[in-house]
Amino acid sequence: MIHKNFKSIEKTVFGRGSFNQLDEILQPKRSLNQGFMVFVVDNYFKGKDLEKRIPAKPEDLVYFIDVDPHEPTTEQIDQLRDEILATKGLPSGLIGIGGGSIMDIAKATALMLTNEGPSQNYQGLNLIKKPGVYHVGVPTISGTGAECSMTAVLTGPEKKLGLKCEWTIFDQVILDSELTATVPVDKWFYTGMDTFIHCIESRDGILNNAYSMAYGEQSLKLCRDIYLGENAGQNPENDDKLMVASLMGGLSLTYSEVGICHALSYGLSKIFGEKHCYANCLAFQHLGDFYPEGVAEFNTMLKKHNIVLPTGLSKNWSDAEINAMAHVAYNLHHMWNHAIGTDWQEKISIEFIEGLFRRM
Ligand code: NAD
Ligand code: ZN
Repeated sequence: MIHKNFKSIEKTVFGRGSFNQLDEILQPKRSLNQGFMVFVVDNYFKGKDLEKRIPAKPEDLVYFIDVDPHEPTTEQIDQLRDEILATKGLPSGLIGIGGGSIMDIAKATALMLTNEGPSQNYQGLNLIKKPGVYHVGVPTISGTGAECSMTAVLTGPEKKLGLKCEWTIFDQVILDSELTATVPVDKWFYTGMDTFIHCIESRDGILNNAYSMAYGEQSLKLCRDIYLGENAGQNPENDDKLMVASLMGGLSLTYSEVGICHALSYGLSKIFGEKHCYANCLAFQHLGDFYPEGVAEFNTMLKKHNIVLPTGLSKNWSDAEINAMAHVAYNLHHMWNHAIGTDWQEKISIEFIEGLFRRM
């Protein structure tokens, strides 16, 4: 057995107001390459107070990106890379300020600035040839764990797959939960549930181990405080907790694996373009026979926060669409292997997975 030998984020700042340290953190890096920084910021912050707090110098580039129309694409990354290189050359560094989508855009663009050709050529494990530029992640919504993962998930012409390698990992993250205060309640719920599901799936499978469990259990405890505790809901204390839970949930799955819900979620994203965290929620509510305890808790959380998920969706899906989603899910072998066991192919078939989609 080969044990994973993984790289962590180089430097981490945690605390309310820590965003104010960004200027000082960037200072020593500003002499690298052509001597300018690129800020990639969620369009939500355009015209908001945070825009004025971005420590951009006159030579820097600031891009506001609308992440709502679709998840990050290879084409979008190539365009942004080409534009930056054509405008000013190779930047000293790139800073992403936003949610999982912006984290992935920042990580992918940092890599593609130094790796020639279209980013679809690099979708997969260790295909990137050279380290990217210095890159910093500043999450503004908590849950995906994208701040600590070694992948930048992109939707390409052929597949939805990450640029996955050690160089993808941020050199620096700034965890300032003050930035998450404005997240609307539905997004707070869906993205936070990504963390909860990471922990349940990481735990309930054959690859779980003392290392993944230590992070996963602590993250689960935080999720229970945030979504079910006496002080449940969006408040400063819980915002702090969810930011840490997201990171720890990410570390837990890094050293274990996700499972059936994520496999189904990839199908929903690929065929219907559903957003990752919402797609997870759509699937997870129906997986009580695989994750009895996790789904029961999840349903209690839904009720407590008055979140109503649609059901009966599959009535409007064609057999061909359901079959296509089942193929996407089936091909994520490592997830089924973890969730069901090494003999999963004797138990799980395309027809079986189609049945799971028909529950939705
Ligand atoms: P997101 O980045 O897609 O943003 C969700 C919504 O929240 C957007 O409308 C955004 O504008 C808004 N928003 C963000 N911060 C806000 C704030 N402070 N106030 C108000 N609104 C705010 O959300 P996400 O759920 O964090 O990320 C989903 C993406 O992450 C997907 O593209 C998925 O593929 C990716 N992902 C990546 C990894 C990884 O390891 N790389 C893991 C899981 C998911
Ligand atoms: Zn996830």
